[in-house]
Amino acid sequence: MITFGEYIKPKSIEEAYESFKLKKNATIIGGGCYIRLGNRRIGLAIDLCDAGLNYINETDDTIEIGAMTTFRELETNNLLASHFGTMISDSVKHIIGVQLRNIITIGATVFSKYGFSDPVTAFLALDAELVLYNGGEISLEEYLKEEDRRKDILEKIVLSKNIDKAVFQSMRNSQVDYAILNAAVSKKDNKIRIAVGARPRTATLAYEAMKYINSNEINEESAYRAGEIAAQELTFGSNTRGSAEYRKELCKVLVKRAIMEVSK
Ligand SMILES: Cc1cc2nc3c(=O)[nH]c(=O)nc-3n(C[C@H](O)[C@H](O)[C@H](O)COP(=O)(O)OP(=O)(O)OC[C@H]3O[C@@H](n4cnc5c(N)ncnc54)[C@H](O)[C@@H]3O)c2cc1C
Repeated sequence: MITFGEYIKPKSIEEAYESFKLKKNATIIGGGCYIRLGNRRIGLAIDLCDAGLNYINETDDTIEIGAMTTFRELETNNLLASHFGTMISDSVKHIIGVQLRNIITIGATVFSKYGFSDPVTAFLALDAELVLYNGGEISLEEYLKEEDRRKDILEKIVLSKNIDKAVFQSMRNSQVDYAILNAAVSKKDNKIRIAVGARPRTATLAYEAMKYINSNEINEESAYRAGEIAAQELTFGSNTRGSAEYRKELCKVLVKRAIMEVSK
Protein backbone atom coordinates (compact mmCIF):
# COMPACT_ATOMS: atom_id res chain seq x y z
CA MET A 1 0.00 0.00 0.00
CA ILE A 2 1.09 3.54 -0.64
CA THR A 3 0.35 6.36 1.79
CA PHE A 4 0.88 10.10 1.54
CA GLY A 5 1.68 12.44 4.44
CA GLU A 6 0.69 15.53 2.47
CA TYR A 7 -0.85 15.77 -1.01
CA ILE A 8 -0.76 18.89 -3.20
CA LYS A 9 -1.86 19.76 -6.74
CA PRO A 10 0.24 22.74 -7.85
CA LYS A 11 -1.12 24.99 -10.60
CA SER A 12 2.16 25.20 -12.49
CA ILE A 13 5.46 23.36 -12.90
CA GLU A 14 7.25 26.29 -11.21
CA GLU A 15 5.08 25.83 -8.14
CA ALA A 16 5.58 22.05 -8.27
CA TYR A 17 9.35 22.37 -8.42
CA GLU A 18 9.48 24.87 -5.55
CA SER A 19 7.79 22.32 -3.26
CA PHE A 20 9.75 19.41 -4.74
CA LYS A 21 13.19 20.87 -4.08
CA LEU A 22 12.41 21.83 -0.49
CA LYS A 23 11.42 18.39 0.82
CA LYS A 24 13.71 15.39 0.71
CA ASN A 25 10.90 12.83 0.61
CA ALA A 26 8.73 14.72 -1.89
CA THR A 27 7.59 12.64 -4.87
CA ILE A 28 6.12 13.70 -8.19
CA ILE A 29 2.91 11.93 -9.19
CA GLY A 30 2.09 11.51 -12.89
CA GLY A 31 -0.73 9.07 -13.58
CA GLY A 32 0.12 7.29 -10.32
CA CYS A 33 -0.28 3.82 -11.87
CA TYR A 34 3.25 2.61 -11.38
CA ILE A 35 3.94 4.29 -8.09
CA ARG A 36 0.89 2.66 -6.51
CA LEU A 37 2.21 -0.85 -7.22
CA GLY A 38 4.74 -0.52 -4.41
CA ASN A 39 4.63 -0.32 -0.63
CA ARG A 40 5.80 3.10 0.35
CA ARG A 41 5.11 6.11 2.51
CA ILE A 42 5.51 9.39 0.65
CA GLY A 43 5.97 12.48 2.82
CA LEU A 44 4.80 14.97 0.20
CA ALA A 45 3.00 13.84 -2.96
CA ILE A 46 3.07 16.45 -5.71
CA ASP A 47 0.39 15.61 -8.25
CA LEU A 48 1.01 17.32 -11.61
CA CYS A 49 -2.58 16.89 -12.81
CA ASP A 50 -3.37 20.64 -12.59
CA ALA A 51 0.05 21.94 -13.67
CA GLY A 52 -0.92 22.52 -17.31
CA LEU A 53 1.30 19.77 -18.72
CA ASN A 54 -1.33 17.81 -20.64
CA TYR A 55 -1.00 18.98 -24.26
CA ILE A 56 0.25 18.10 -27.73
CA ASN A 57 1.21 21.32 -29.56
CA GLU A 58 2.71 22.13 -32.92
CA THR A 59 5.39 24.74 -33.71
CA ASP A 60 6.89 25.42 -37.16
CA ASP A 61 9.39 22.55 -36.91
CA THR A 62 8.39 20.52 -33.89
CA ILE A 63 5.66 18.75 -31.97
CA GLU A 64 5.72 19.32 -28.20
CA ILE A 65 4.22 16.73 -25.90
CA GLY A 66 3.56 17.82 -22.31
CA ALA A 67 4.71 15.42 -19.59
CA MET A 68 1.15 14.74 -18.34
CA THR A 69 -0.10 13.63 -21.75
CA THR A 70 -1.65 10.19 -21.39
CA PHE A 71 -0.88 7.12 -23.46
CA ARG A 72 -4.44 7.16 -24.78
CA GLU A 73 -3.84 10.63 -26.20
CA LEU A 74 -0.60 9.47 -27.81
CA GLU A 75 -2.54 6.57 -29.29
CA THR A 76 -5.39 8.61 -30.76
CA ASN A 77 -3.92 12.06 -31.53
CA ASN A 78 -4.33 13.11 -35.18
CA LEU A 79 -1.40 15.53 -35.19
CA LEU A 80 0.99 12.75 -34.13
CA ALA A 81 -0.55 10.39 -36.69
CA SER A 82 -0.13 12.95 -39.46
CA HIS A 83 3.61 13.30 -38.77
CA PHE A 84 4.64 9.86 -37.53
CA GLY A 85 2.00 7.54 -39.00
CA THR A 86 1.04 4.75 -36.62
CA MET A 87 4.47 4.52 -34.99
CA ILE A 88 3.71 6.27 -31.68
CA SER A 89 0.26 4.73 -31.47
CA ASP A 90 1.76 1.27 -32.13
CA SER A 91 4.15 1.76 -29.22
CA VAL A 92 1.37 2.26 -26.66
CA LYS A 93 -1.75 0.54 -27.95
CA HIS A 94 -0.82 -2.87 -26.45
CA ILE A 95 -0.37 -1.55 -22.94
CA ILE A 96 -2.96 -3.25 -20.72
CA GLY A 97 -6.27 -1.55 -21.56
CA VAL A 98 -7.91 1.76 -22.39
CA GLN A 99 -8.70 2.60 -18.74
CA LEU A 100 -5.03 2.36 -17.80
CA ARG A 101 -3.88 4.18 -20.94
CA ASN A 102 -6.28 6.99 -20.01
CA ILE A 103 -4.24 7.53 -16.83
CA ILE A 104 -0.60 6.60 -17.54
CA THR A 105 1.55 9.59 -18.48
CA ILE A 106 4.41 9.84 -20.94
CA GLY A 107 6.43 12.15 -18.68
CA ALA A 108 6.65 9.57 -15.90
CA THR A 109 7.61 6.84 -18.34
CA VAL A 110 10.37 8.81 -20.05
CA PHE A 111 11.74 10.40 -16.87
CA SER A 112 11.94 6.99 -15.16
CA LYS A 113 13.73 5.30 -18.14
CA TYR A 114 11.88 2.05 -17.50
CA GLY A 115 13.75 -0.80 -19.20
CA PHE A 116 10.50 -2.43 -20.32
CA SER A 117 9.16 0.74 -21.89
CA ASP A 118 7.74 0.69 -25.41
CA PRO A 119 7.28 4.44 -26.08
CA VAL A 120 10.80 5.26 -24.84
CA THR A 121 12.17 3.08 -27.68
CA ALA A 122 9.89 4.86 -30.17
CA PHE A 123 10.94 8.33 -28.97
CA LEU A 124 14.60 7.35 -29.07
CA ALA A 125 14.28 6.36 -32.73
CA LEU A 126 12.60 9.75 -33.32
CA ASP A 127 15.58 11.54 -31.72
CA ALA A 128 13.39 13.22 -29.10
CA GLU A 129 14.61 16.15 -27.04
CA LEU A 130 13.57 16.49 -23.40
CA VAL A 131 12.93 19.67 -21.49
CA LEU A 132 13.59 19.27 -17.77
CA TYR A 133 12.33 22.08 -15.56
CA ASN A 134 15.63 22.55 -13.72
CA GLY A 135 18.10 20.85 -16.05
CA GLY A 136 16.90 22.39 -19.31
CA GLU A 137 17.18 20.66 -22.67
CA ILE A 138 18.85 17.30 -23.19
CA SER A 139 18.48 14.71 -25.93
CA LEU A 140 16.70 11.53 -24.89
CA GLU A 141 19.75 9.67 -26.22
CA GLU A 142 22.04 11.41 -23.70
CA TYR A 143 19.47 11.32 -20.89
CA LEU A 144 19.12 7.53 -21.13
CA LYS A 145 22.88 7.15 -20.70
CA GLU A 146 22.90 8.98 -17.36
CA GLU A 147 23.17 6.62 -14.41
CA ASP A 148 22.05 8.82 -11.54
CA ARG A 149 18.42 9.78 -11.12
CA ARG A 150 18.02 13.53 -11.30
CA LYS A 151 15.94 15.47 -8.80
CA ASP A 152 13.98 17.25 -11.49
CA ILE A 153 10.63 17.38 -13.25
CA LEU A 154 10.23 16.50 -16.91
CA GLU A 155 8.21 19.27 -18.55
CA LYS A 156 7.87 18.16 -22.16
CA ILE A 157 9.18 16.00 -25.00
CA VAL A 158 10.00 17.70 -28.30
CA LEU A 159 9.94 15.83 -31.62
CA SER A 160 11.24 17.10 -34.93
CA LYS A 161 8.45 17.06 -37.53
CA ASN A 162 10.57 16.23 -40.56
CA ILE A 163 10.59 12.46 -40.25
CA ASP A 164 10.05 10.60 -43.55
CA LYS A 165 8.73 7.43 -41.94
CA ALA A 166 8.89 5.65 -38.60
CA VAL A 167 8.04 2.14 -37.46
CA PHE A 168 7.63 0.41 -34.08
CA GLN A 169 7.88 -3.37 -33.64
CA SER A 170 7.61 -5.58 -30.57
CA MET A 171 7.32 -9.22 -29.60
CA ARG A 172 5.10 -10.16 -26.66
CA ASN A 173 4.00 -13.47 -25.18
CA SER A 174 0.44 -12.18 -25.15
CA GLN A 175 -1.22 -9.01 -26.41
CA VAL A 176 -1.08 -7.09 -23.11
CA ASP A 177 2.12 -8.48 -21.60
CA TYR A 178 5.37 -6.50 -21.36
CA ALA A 179 7.42 -6.76 -24.56
CA ILE A 180 10.12 -9.44 -24.68
CA LEU A 181 11.93 -7.07 -27.02
CA ASN A 182 10.99 -3.98 -28.97
CA ALA A 183 12.61 -2.07 -31.80
CA ALA A 184 11.89 1.22 -33.52
CA VAL A 185 13.34 2.64 -36.71
CA SER A 186 12.96 6.08 -38.24
CA LYS A 187 14.05 7.52 -41.57
CA LYS A 188 14.91 11.20 -41.92
CA ASP A 189 16.76 12.74 -44.88
CA ASN A 190 17.47 9.17 -45.99
CA LYS A 191 19.25 8.37 -42.71
CA ILE A 192 18.07 5.40 -40.69
CA ARG A 193 18.02 5.49 -36.87
CA ILE A 194 17.59 2.21 -34.98
CA ALA A 195 16.54 1.88 -31.31
CA VAL A 196 16.14 -1.39 -29.40
CA GLY A 197 14.48 -1.67 -25.99
CA ALA A 198 13.10 -4.11 -23.40
CA ARG A 199 16.43 -5.95 -23.72
CA PRO A 200 15.20 -5.98 -20.81
CA ARG A 201 17.46 -3.00 -20.14
CA THR A 202 16.77 0.61 -21.07
CA ALA A 203 16.44 1.34 -24.77
CA THR A 204 19.57 2.19 -26.71
CA LEU A 205 20.58 3.06 -30.25
CA ALA A 206 22.30 0.38 -32.35
CA TYR A 207 25.18 2.59 -33.53
CA GLU A 208 27.11 0.00 -35.57
CA ALA A 209 23.97 -1.24 -37.29
CA MET A 210 23.05 2.37 -38.16
CA LYS A 211 26.54 2.99 -39.58
CA TYR A 212 26.24 -0.16 -41.71
CA ILE A 213 22.74 0.42 -43.09
CA ASN A 214 23.40 4.11 -43.78
CA SER A 215 26.34 3.25 -46.00
CA ASN A 216 24.65 0.45 -47.92
CA GLU A 217 21.69 0.17 -50.26
CA ILE A 218 18.65 -1.07 -48.38
CA ASN A 219 17.35 -4.50 -49.41
CA GLU A 220 16.35 -7.72 -47.65
CA GLU A 221 19.95 -8.80 -47.31
CA SER A 222 21.39 -5.54 -45.94
CA ALA A 223 18.40 -5.10 -43.58
CA TYR A 224 19.02 -8.59 -42.18
CA ARG A 225 22.74 -7.86 -41.87
CA ALA A 226 21.90 -4.66 -39.94
CA GLY A 227 19.75 -6.76 -37.60
CA GLU A 228 22.67 -9.17 -37.10
CA ILE A 229 25.05 -6.29 -36.35
CA ALA A 230 22.55 -4.81 -33.84
CA ALA A 231 22.22 -8.22 -32.15
CA GLN A 232 26.01 -8.44 -31.95
CA GLU A 233 26.71 -4.96 -30.59
CA LEU A 234 23.90 -4.79 -27.99
CA THR A 235 23.71 -6.64 -24.70
CA PHE A 236 20.63 -8.63 -23.71
CA GLY A 237 19.51 -10.09 -20.42
CA SER A 238 17.25 -12.95 -19.34
CA ASN A 239 14.07 -12.75 -17.28
CA THR A 240 10.80 -14.66 -16.97
CA ARG A 241 9.69 -13.42 -20.41
CA GLY A 242 12.67 -14.60 -22.39
CA SER A 243 16.33 -15.53 -22.37
CA ALA A 244 19.18 -13.30 -23.58
CA GLU A 245 19.73 -15.74 -26.48
CA TYR A 246 16.08 -15.50 -27.54
CA ARG A 247 16.18 -11.69 -27.35
CA LYS A 248 19.29 -11.70 -29.54
CA GLU A 249 17.47 -13.71 -32.21
CA LEU A 250 14.41 -11.45 -31.92
CA CYS A 251 16.61 -8.39 -32.36
CA LYS A 252 17.74 -9.59 -35.81
CA VAL A 253 14.17 -10.11 -36.96
CA LEU A 254 12.56 -6.97 -35.47
CA VAL A 255 15.32 -4.67 -36.72
CA LYS A 256 15.20 -6.18 -40.21
CA ARG A 257 11.40 -5.91 -40.37
CA ALA A 258 11.41 -2.31 -39.18
CA ILE A 259 14.12 -1.29 -41.67
CA MET A 260 12.24 -2.91 -44.55
CA GLU A 261 9.03 -1.20 -43.48
CA VAL A 262 10.47 2.32 -43.23
CA SER A 263 12.06 1.81 -46.64
CA LYS A 264 8.82 0.93 -48.44
C1 LIG B 1 0.01 -3.00 -14.91
C2 LIG B 1 0.97 -2.18 -15.74
C3 LIG B 1 1.43 -2.70 -16.96
C4 LIG B 1 2.31 -1.94 -17.75
N1 LIG B 1 2.73 -2.45 -18.96
C5 LIG B 1 3.56 -1.70 -19.75
C6 LIG B 1 4.02 -2.15 -21.03
O1 LIG B 1 3.72 -3.23 -21.49
N2 LIG B 1 4.82 -1.32 -21.75
C7 LIG B 1 5.21 -0.09 -21.29
O2 LIG B 1 5.93 0.61 -22.00
N3 LIG B 1 4.80 0.34 -20.08
C8 LIG B 1 4.00 -0.42 -19.31
N4 LIG B 1 3.61 0.05 -18.07
C9 LIG B 1 4.24 1.26 -17.51
C10 LIG B 1 3.57 2.49 -17.91
O3 LIG B 1 3.82 2.63 -19.30
C11 LIG B 1 4.16 3.73 -17.22
O4 LIG B 1 5.54 3.77 -17.48
C12 LIG B 1 3.99 3.75 -15.74
O5 LIG B 1 2.68 3.40 -15.36
C13 LIG B 1 4.36 5.13 -15.20
O6 LIG B 1 3.42 6.09 -15.60
P1 LIG B 1 2.50 6.81 -14.52
O7 LIG B 1 1.95 8.02 -15.17
O8 LIG B 1 1.57 5.83 -13.94
O9 LIG B 1 3.63 7.25 -13.46
P2 LIG B 1 3.64 7.42 -11.86
O10 LIG B 1 3.32 6.13 -11.21
O11 LIG B 1 2.83 8.59 -11.49
O12 LIG B 1 5.17 7.80 -11.65
C14 LIG B 1 6.22 6.90 -11.94
C15 LIG B 1 7.54 7.57 -11.54
O13 LIG B 1 7.79 8.72 -12.34
C16 LIG B 1 7.97 9.90 -11.53
N5 LIG B 1 7.35 11.02 -12.30
C17 LIG B 1 6.07 11.09 -12.75
N6 LIG B 1 5.92 12.16 -13.56
C18 LIG B 1 7.11 12.80 -13.60
C19 LIG B 1 7.61 13.97 -14.26
N7 LIG B 1 6.85 14.70 -15.10
N8 LIG B 1 8.90 14.35 -14.03
C20 LIG B 1 9.68 13.62 -13.20
N9 LIG B 1 9.29 12.49 -12.57
C21 LIG B 1 8.03 12.08 -12.78
C22 LIG B 1 7.26 9.57 -10.23
O14 LIG B 1 7.81 10.30 -9.16
C23 LIG B 1 7.56 8.08 -10.10
O15 LIG B 1 8.85 7.87 -9.59
C24 LIG B 1 2.72 -0.67 -17.29
C25 LIG B 1 2.26 -0.15 -16.07
C26 LIG B 1 1.36 -0.87 -15.31
C27 LIG B 1 0.86 -0.27 -14.03
